[in-house]
Amino acid sequence: MTWLEEGWRHVWLPYAQMQTAPLPMAVARTQGARIILEDGRELIDGIASWWTACHGYNHPHIQQAVARQLEAMPHVMFGGLANQPAYRLATRLAAMMPGDLNRVFFTDSGSVAVEVAIKIAVQSRLNKGERGRTKILAFSGGYHGDTLGTMAICDPEEGMHSLYTGLLPEHPVVPLPKDEASIAAFEAFLEREHKTLAAIIVEPLVQGAGGMVFHGPKVLQRLRKAADEYGLTLIFDEIFTGFGRTGSLFAFEQAGVVPDIITLSKALTGGTSPLAVTIATDRLFETFLSDSPMTALMHGPTYMAHALGCAAANASLDIFESEPRLAQVAAISAQMAKELEPCRRLPGVKDVRVMGAIGVVQMHEITNPAGLRQKFLKEGVWIRPFRDIVYLTPAFTVSPEELSRLTGAIRRVLTTP
Ligand code: PLP
Repeated sequence: MTWLEEGWRHVWLPYAQMQTAPLPMAVARTQGARIILEDGRELIDGIASWWTACHGYNHPHIQQAVARQLEAMPHVMFGGLANQPAYRLATRLAAMMPGDLNRVFFTDSGSVAVEVAIKIAVQSRLNKGERGRTKILAFSGGYHGDTLGTMAICDPEEGMHSLYTGLLPEHPVVPLPKDEASIAAFEAFLEREHKTLAAIIVEPLVQGAGGMVFHGPKVLQRLRKAADEYGLTLIFDEIFTGFGRTGSLFAFEQAGVVPDIITLSKALTGGTSPLAVTIATDRLFETFLSDSPMTALMHGPTYMAHALGCAAANASLDIFESEPRLAQVAAISAQMAKELEPCRRLPGVKDVRVMGAIGVVQMHEITNPAGLRQKFLKEGVWIRPFRDIVYLTPAFTVSPEELSRLTGAIRRVLTTP
């Protein structure tokens, strides 16, 4: 029995009905934009491992940095002890942020970074003696993670709000203020409910796991204005959009809007190891300062500021400085727009859209995602349709030929669905 067959009796897969889930493919190694399977097949990766491997797999600069750090010290606890990669990373991230987004809280996953953002937004008010403002305003189609606190601010269907009633905290979820009707509803909601609210949370420019749905910078400007008017904390969840994915290093740059809290993860370590940050303004941070331990932020994951992860993240930032990532994203964007456009004429296709290094072909419905995945495998590409979309979020280092193989596979597979 192989390790895969033996372990298959014991693992529990993500988002899977285990009764019918097919055996996953055994991966031997990765290189650049390629996944090499144990049986020798090589797949071109269209997803970059859930949007993390922005520099491609096995970038030597990250590998060397992690190897050096591993030799010196894999990790030490963050309470009372300091590791240099984490302190350096905090300094660098703060320098990259606009305004007074200066305080970096480390965690180990995107969901937990969002949990921390919620805690900061709510406790900041409690610390100032403001009670009753414990709700977070979130948006339909949004996704912020799988922990209970973040499920509560996901789209109600995505977050399984009705199934988990009684367990999840309740937060208001409204449509994004995109058009006249939704803007009016948003404004009416705020006027009525603002006294219950601590914060507004949004994935800026792209609602990723909710189906890669785009919105314009005006929406973000509107949210900033509303947050200012009602004194709300504005949280941008850039866990998906951060580090170049939308065409700018951070999505907020395209709107000229500065949030009060930003969450980052995924591409932070270039896909090397789990690490996340919640970055807050000095203004929020100062509300936690007092002579009492009661106003401190009570959070501290065991692997907080993991030294290997921070070494990887620092190396990833070096690469953003030394290699032309944003130019590559612009080239990928143009190529995807050109090569996916013909899909618009294929049967069952509802929309084709591209932003930065995100290419989406939206179908009226996908009835057999497993069947589609098999067809993509036969084409030698790793593409996983979900909901009603077939999408690409490749490594920024994907070559034009590799990208053409990905877009060509989509065109061919959707031609004969
Ligand atoms: N926020 C956004 C915008 C995400 O896309 C994700 C993951 O897809 C998360 C939060 C949760 O991150 P994680 O899966 O690391 O907990």
